[in-house]
Amino acid sequence: MNTPTSPAATPRSTLIARLQEAREWDVAVIGGGATGLGVALDAAARGFSVVLVESHDFSSGTSSRATKLAHGGVRYLAQGDIGLVREALAERGAILANAPHVAQRLPFVMPGYHWWERGFYGVGLKAYDALAGARGLGATEILSSRRVRDLLPGVREQGLWGGVKYWDGQFDDARLAVLLARTAAARGALVVNHCTASSLLREGGQVRGLIVRDNETGIEATLRSRCVINAAGVWVDAVRDMDRETGAPPRPAMVAPSQGVHLIVDRHFLPGTHALLVPKTDDGRVLFAVPWLGKLILGTTDTPRDDLAREPAPFHDEVEFILREAGRYLSRAPTRADVRSVWVGLRPLVKPSGDEGESTKALSREHTVIVGRSGLVTVTGGKWTTYRAMAEDVLEQAMARGLLERRRGGVTARLPLLGSAPGRPLWEPPGEHLYGSEAALLRRLPGADRWLWRDGGGGLSEAMVRFAVRHEMARDVEDMLARRCRLLFLDAAEAARQADAVAALMAEELGHAVDAAPFKALAAQYLRLP
Ligand SMILES: Cc1cc2nc3c(=O)[nH]c(=O)nc-3n(C[C@H](O)[C@H](O)[C@H](O)COP(=O)(O)OP(=O)(O)OC[C@H]3O[C@@H](n4cnc5c(N)ncnc54)[C@H](O)[C@@H]3O)c2cc1C
Repeated sequence: MNTPTSPAATPRSTLIARLQEAREWDVAVIGGGATGLGVALDAAARGFSVVLVESHDFSSGTSSRATKLAHGGVRYLAQGDIGLVREALAERGAILANAPHVAQRLPFVMPGYHWWERGFYGVGLKAYDALAGARGLGATEILSSRRVRDLLPGVREQGLWGGVKYWDGQFDDARLAVLLARTAAARGALVVNHCTASSLLREGGQVRGLIVRDNETGIEATLRSRCVINAAGVWVDAVRDMDRETGAPPRPAMVAPSQGVHLIVDRHFLPGTHALLVPKTDDGRVLFAVPWLGKLILGTTDTPRDDLAREPAPFHDEVEFILREAGRYLSRAPTRADVRSVWVGLRPLVKPSGDEGESTKALSREHTVIVGRSGLVTVTGGKWTTYRAMAEDVLEQAMARGLLERRRGGVTARLPLLGSAPGRPLWEPPGEHLYGSEAALLRRLPGADRWLWRDGGGGLSEAMVRFAVRHEMARDVEDMLARRCRLLFLDAAEAARQADAVAALMAEELGHAVDAAPFKALAAQYLRLP
């Protein structure tokens, strides 16, 4: 399939006017994370008419806070869940093929400190390769201690018993999300951020659409739709609650959130081009040290919590755990003073139960699709890597229920996203390479050579801010510095320093004042260690 060309930028006022048109949509999606955007693109690619609303910004929920690994899940292999791993490996291949500018293969090294580890993990990882088949990214290798030291400069050498090298994928999650949104829009979908689904339109016990509110103007619109998909991540239960009969008791929650923390430090703690994986820390968790966009990601944790904060704060023990464990595997232990940014995401873990009368399909992977009596389709769980397969399942359920007519699936398996072109390695600092074939469009904008922030050969240019407003639906400083450019995640203090300049440029592009203060407060949170 040909690489799609960049669509002309659509002004927001036009998007809001389209929301107000009197018409019926085939599919309406609530939530602009990986899951909802995947559904919107798949449905649009099959020729359905699609509208998607996201209450904040695309991927601002969980989908910008992942470890950024497109992976089969080595740990599911250990649990013997072969089908899940095989599917995720196929999906890993699809992501890397369709968006090579923001998703690429990455070598991992698992150092061994016990005599048996190299052989034990080596066998498992060769099985991982075999499952990937033609989608394999490179052969697993058993390494001597010397090779481990060469590939992982910065690894603790004392007690090293060799290691294993294998391949997986990594990506820029927030940029991939925006590309999904824009590619869906290029295929005719109406995709709007900063627009909340405030209630469902119910007639005769059936969901027939939703009421949305534009968060900027307060304008409300009623969207009629044959099928409504609830893809609100950890917030799906609030949307399911909108589907409750008057006077009916609240439903049991479907999601049990679990938070994961990442710490960002400088690359010199692990300066090579390989990531480090510790398959089993002292308390049985997996720990990653992954080079990404010029920095090193350390993480993550898995801590149940019962609130659903938009910006969850890390717990003291989580930060201590990551620093302590990283210190055990790196020759120079990072300290609290080395942390450039701390970010926290909530995993939407699905509880194993459904309402009576609802057709629950706990699929053989981690996600769940429920079609309620009212016809509301709820999808949650899973992982970023499998977003495309999840979308196919959602549409299959909607078609099986008769909400949509049957249309052939598999259309997004080989569907290049906007800008699709081989890029520079993702461990290099961010720059124009993340725009793929759209870099030419970016360079034509004013300020392509005026840099607000410089890192290596890349950084953040004035033109990138203009591009984000004109083409990527960025509406405020946070959209720009957290997700179009990942500076908040890479270096929160530097992001705060850039806030005023970015606000001024955005104001020029948007034609109204832009306040940098809320972003500065957020950046302070990303620097605060409990
Ligand atoms: C710490 C951590 C690390 C992870 N690492 C990886 C990894 O390396 N690889 C991988 O494959 N997966 C990873 N995952 C999993 C992956 O990130 C998630 O499975 C995925 O991002 C979930 O996407 P989602 O769209 O379901 O949820 P979200 O991204 O949260 O999207 C839901 C959206 O719905 C919006 N919304 C809510 N209510 C409304 C409303 N009323 N109206 C409109 N919009 C609404 C929210 O604002 C939100 O943006 C990780 C998860 C965590 C927490």
